[in-house]
Amino acid sequence: MKKPSIYTLISTLPKLSVEELLFLKAEVHRQEKNQAIEALWQSKNQEIKSCPHCDSEEFTKNGSKDGRQRFRCKSCSKTFNALTNTPLSRLRFAEKHLQQTEVMLEGLSIRKAAEKLNVNSRTAFLWRHRFLENLEKEQPIKLGGIVEADETFFLKSYKGQRNGLPRSSKKRGTPATKRGLSAEQVPVLIARERTSNITLTQILPKRNSVELGKVLKPVLTKDAMVCSDGAKIYKLMGKANGIDVRSSKKARSGTYHIQNVNAAGQRLKGWMYPFKGVATKYLSNYLGWKRWMEQKDSPTPSEFWKASAG
Ligand SMILES: [Zn+2]
Repeated sequence: MKKPSIYTLISTLPKLSVEELLFLKAEVHRQEKNQAIEALWQSKNQEIKSCPHCDSEEFTKNGSKDGRQRFRCKSCSKTFNALTNTPLSRLRFAEKHLQQTEVMLEGLSIRKAAEKLNVNSRTAFLWRHRFLENLEKEQPIKLGGIVEADETFFLKSYKGQRNGLPRSSKKRGTPATKRGLSAEQVPVLIARERTSNITLTQILPKRNSVELGKVLKPVLTKDAMVCSDGAKIYKLMGKANGIDVRSSKKARSGTYHIQNVNAAGQRLKGWMYPFKGVATKYLSNYLGWKRWMEQKDSPTPSEFWKASAG
């Protein structure tokens, strides 16, 4: 069929009803996404350097499956595509995966995401966590200069878990009262470099100086100076690891404040709110998600897809 010119197409628009125009609009949007995801796959195809099974660099094209280019390794004879061995491999409905990253950028709950994607909530849940697998692993490798550090707390949640619950379900969801001291709370350390706003967020198995040190020591550069709210665990951590720790309470000048990290903590809390209590098991995924979003000025669905595909 001869490709109609865009002007011919446009000239027919006034003849369409409102319903037809809306239908067309949706179809254009769908096509747009299809082409975008196609382009992402193409670029992934070009990035393949070796077989994901055996690392051999000898492979050839081997037809396509579901519209995706397949390759065959000359060494181990196994076939693969651009997403083999990535968190996104073997996920169905690839044509919806860009829309999937859109709902993630919007921060929709599983229920709302499932509705928008027209998939069941099990699929929406599976996709969410597969798309977060790589993001969860990304943490800053170094923090230098003034590093503001503080903790924020999330209520322990066994949402969606049926087995191995530590207490009766009646009691679950009872708000914990003592900030940070209760076993019902999960402490999350937030450490933020003052000049760059590079941020680390990490669940602490326990809120103590040893656990703080385990997370901070490997990433702090020699010139790093930690600003905290003056809590004892920071002082102890500093002493044990030879790290310069300043307290925002004692500081006379305005330099040693923790306003940036506090603001980051509030943004994290506010962003998590619509998810209505994330299961503790998945909290780390959500932290990685927010970390990734905070690094970008205005992240796009394609960027999200690329980060998830690794
Ligand atoms: Zn191979």
